[in-house]
Amino acid sequence: MSDEPIKLAEGMMAAPHVCEFEGCGKRAPFGFAKPRQPSHWFCFEHREHGDRYLAGVR
Ligand SMILES: [Zn+2]
Repeated sequence: MSDEPIKLAEGMMAAPHVCEFEGCGKRAPFGFAKPRQPSHWFCFEHREHGDRYLAGVR
């Protein structure tokens, strides 16, 4: 079990996700997760926000 941040592919998940960026609501194929924390999902346009989650920067 690694503590490295991981990026998820939507194909691995059962349910489709929606971009978490406020006011966006597009389909979110890019998932970001840290160990023991909920994953975050963003569309192509906002996936850089997911990278910030992994980096610990808001
Ligand atoms: Zn978005």
